[in-house]
Amino acid sequence: MNARFACTCGATEWHVSAPRRGTRLICYCADCQSFPRHLGADILNEAGGTDLLQVAPSQVTFTRGIGNLGLLRLSPQGLSRWHTTCCGTPVANTLKSAKLPFVSLSCAAHQGEDKLLGPVRAHANTVWASGPGAPRKDRGLGRMVLAFGQRLLAERLSGRWQQTPFFAPPDWAPVAEPQILSKQARLRARA
Ligand SMILES: [Zn+2]
Ligand SMILES: [Zn+2]
Repeated sequence: MNARFACTCGATEWHVSAPRRGTRLICYCADCQSFPRHLGADILNEAGGTDLLQVAPSQVTFTRGIGNLGLLRLSPQGLSRWHTTCCGTPVANTLKSAKLPFVSLSCAAHQGEDKLLGPVRAHANTVWASGPGAPRKDRGLGRMVLAFGQRLLAERLSGRWQQTPFFAPPDWAPVAEPQILSKQARLRARA
């Protein structure tokens, strides 16, 4: 079973295989709120949460417009935050290195029945929630971290980490030049 994702303008499209093997979570952290605000994308829920699906990069395939991928870091050491340059749709977060295979997809771009992505299993960084609707405490983080570790190990041992759309051989550099937000732009993107 594949889940289809697309950017707002439709020029970029990607698929995720076996989406229910991923971990779906809502993250309320300040950076996850700043990222769509900087892009001008309206994807946060009423509590400022971002709906994310953590999967292995080898589960993600771009079927259209992979050249539209842009890469943003909110700070020099920040997560790699991928978006489309055609229309500013948030796509996913990855770590800096392809050798730490991890991707957290933005569920807002999903184009199908919500239940295809499975239930939300974790709520992270609820202390940053900016409105009603978030649980008062983080939930499901232990299971999330465990699944993250298991996925990472399986990808490394099988060599599947090399099947990533976000990095390219031979040196496994990101497929888009990273842009780092200036301090001013970072402040502007804050709530
Ligand atoms: Zn687009
Ligand atoms: Zn976050």
